[in-house]
Amino acid sequence: MTTKTLLPTSTAGSLPKPSWLAEPETLWSPWKLEGEELTDGKQDALRLSLQEQQHAGVDIVSDGEQTRQHFVTTFIEHLDGVDFENRKTVKIRDRYDASVPTVVGPVTRQKPVFVEDAKFLRQQTDKPIKWALPGPMTMIDTLYDAHYQSREKLAWEFAKILNQEAKELEAAGVDIIQFDEPAFNVFFDDVNDWGIKCLERAIEGLKCETAVHICYGYGIKANTDWKKTLGTEWRQYEEVFPKLQQSKIDIISLECHNSHVPIELLELIRGKKVMVGAIDVANHDVESPEEVAETLREALKYVDADKLYPCTNCGMAPLPREVAQGKLSALQAGAELVRKELVRK
Ligand SMILES: [Zn+2]
Repeated sequence: MTTKTLLPTSTAGSLPKPSWLAEPETLWSPWKLEGEELTDGKQDALRLSLQEQQHAGVDIVSDGEQTRQHFVTTFIEHLDGVDFENRKTVKIRDRYDASVPTVVGPVTRQKPVFVEDAKFLRQQTDKPIKWALPGPMTMIDTLYDAHYQSREKLAWEFAKILNQEAKELEAAGVDIIQFDEPAFNVFFDDVNDWGIKCLERAIEGLKCETAVHICYGYGIKANTDWKKTLGTEWRQYEEVFPKLQQSKIDIISLECHNSHVPIELLELIRGKKVMVGAIDVANHDVESPEEVAETLREALKYVDADKLYPCTNCGMAPLPREVAQGKLSALQAGAELVRKELVRK
């Protein structure tokens, strides 16, 4: 990446879609258009989302996930070996029941999934761009597996497929490829046994930067109910950070603001670049720049200034557009306060 900005800002991924493309304030909302109109509509929405990020001054921009309905299943829909008609109800993230597609044969990727979208984004901006893909462990946790009968084997197959996609995204000009792994906050033994190895398989041979995003999820009821059971201190990160610190992943993206994560856990990943979540995505209150700055100052006790990337806790797709826009501006303004302090020192 070429940005020389101190504390470069970015978002975890998704941003609200325009109301003519999908139902607003709804997670995983179905499309309102179809066929060629849908293709055009997605591109127009991507342009708008980029414009909103640039207007707010975001340094590392993304597509705002305007071309996907769901952060995991939209990717899986493009693969062979998964039957979307044949659905089973499984418990996902060890938390809530969901109706999911079934793996019925070897999983393969016959054609690129997001590469054309990434090329389109690349044409629209000279800023560094980040692209999100689902992580292998989160993918297997969103499926019923009737073929491999092994979470580890299926994750390894997905890692190989993700690596093919990642290499083509890199060639399309993506600067940072991010893998979303909320499942890393749940299945600690598996993460340490094979989850991180699968992630390293997914980034094998890449020259662009790589990130893993681990959060406590969107502000939906299943997640807020789960968070109530986690007690006053959320120490989940403690289980996986030591191995992640040793891994080949460049950047770790996590939630901090309004969260019960003890900030000192960041010490466990010292040396890595950290995308620090300084914006809460589970409420509609727009943070003040000073609140953002305070979270960043706390993080700076454990993250070297040249490795700190202010970010949002998670995606903002379910928020009203003006709230998301306000939060983006607050992120930038808060980062600017801390940049000035750092320069003064
Ligand atoms: Zn997230």
